[in-house]
Amino acid sequence: MNLPVSYADVVAAAARLDGVAHRTPVLTSRTADARVGARLHFKAENLQRMGAFKFRGAYNAIARLDEAARRRGVLAFSSGNHAQAIALASRLQGVAATIVMPADAPAIKLAATRGYGAAVVTYDRMTEDREALARRLAEERGLALIPPYDHPDVIAGQGTAAKELIEDAGPLDILFVCTGGGGLVSGCALAARALAPACRVIAVEPEAGNDVQQSFRTGAIVRIPVPATIADGAQTQAPGRLTFPIIRALVADVLTVSDAELIAAMRFFVATMKIVVEPTGCLAAAAAFGGQIDLAGKRVGVILSGGNVDPAALARYLA
Ligand SMILES: *Cc1c(COP(=O)(O)O)cnc(C)c1O
Repeated sequence: MNLPVSYADVVAAAARLDGVAHRTPVLTSRTADARVGARLHFKAENLQRMGAFKFRGAYNAIARLDEAARRRGVLAFSSGNHAQAIALASRLQGVAATIVMPADAPAIKLAATRGYGAAVVTYDRMTEDREALARRLAEERGLALIPPYDHPDVIAGQGTAAKELIEDAGPLDILFVCTGGGGLVSGCALAARALAPACRVIAVEPEAGNDVQQSFRTGAIVRIPVPATIADGAQTQAPGRLTFPIIRALVADVLTVSDAELIAAMRFFVATMKIVVEPTGCLAAAAAFGGQIDLAGKRVGVILSGGNVDPAALARYLA
């Protein structure tokens, strides 16, 4: 099978991230296990640096740039975790970062991105095309554009989350992974195939935005309008050109969960496991809890992909 990224790339990314990214804990809960009759292993990427797994791919991609590219700097367009990941990963490597964000992005996200030392360029969501703007800036200033998921070094970096999970928890029967554009699940599927070949990898999307599920079922990339969901990290419109072939080859199925199921999972994590997981970060867990797949007696991995939720929004979800 000729895939655009290999497990060797994941192993190389792990060496670059060693001592830089947190080796996040694998959490367990007897209460969660009792609900589904299985042994659940939660990979707590909500406790990763900057609060999400995206630090892994961002750091790896920047580490792979040559000296000349590092001197010119990097560029990303994102209003969410990828922006903060690129900002922090560049600062740690002494590389200048420019982030293109909507002018009406939440003030706390603009501030967090600037706080990591990145230059923020804002645009008007109603009148400007951010991809075109980002490409123009990248070209004019010679910056390396690092996309949030459709990039081999980003995919390889994200795969280190599942590599650590399987190394720490032992072989798994099933692994649930939160999915937007598919960088995390494709990297994790490469790691699972190498370390636990019998493991079935399940991608999980928001019900309102099932572009990966539709693409998986029809065998060709399906593009959807921007979905309305509280899972703001998974409001993607289509899987990537690199992520989709990996998903088709290595993922067993793509499931969806509702916003109500995400809120129920967030409440469970706060009330029972005492951890904050953002709505997008609950996708995989909500599917594991949802009973669409019988987990009885299985060893199950669940990636909790991030924990960046505004405290006021969290309070509303918990109320
Ligand atoms: C970006 C993101 C995702 C989706 O990751 P993809 O690689 O785009 O599939 C899931 N959860 C969180 C918290 C994210 O920030």
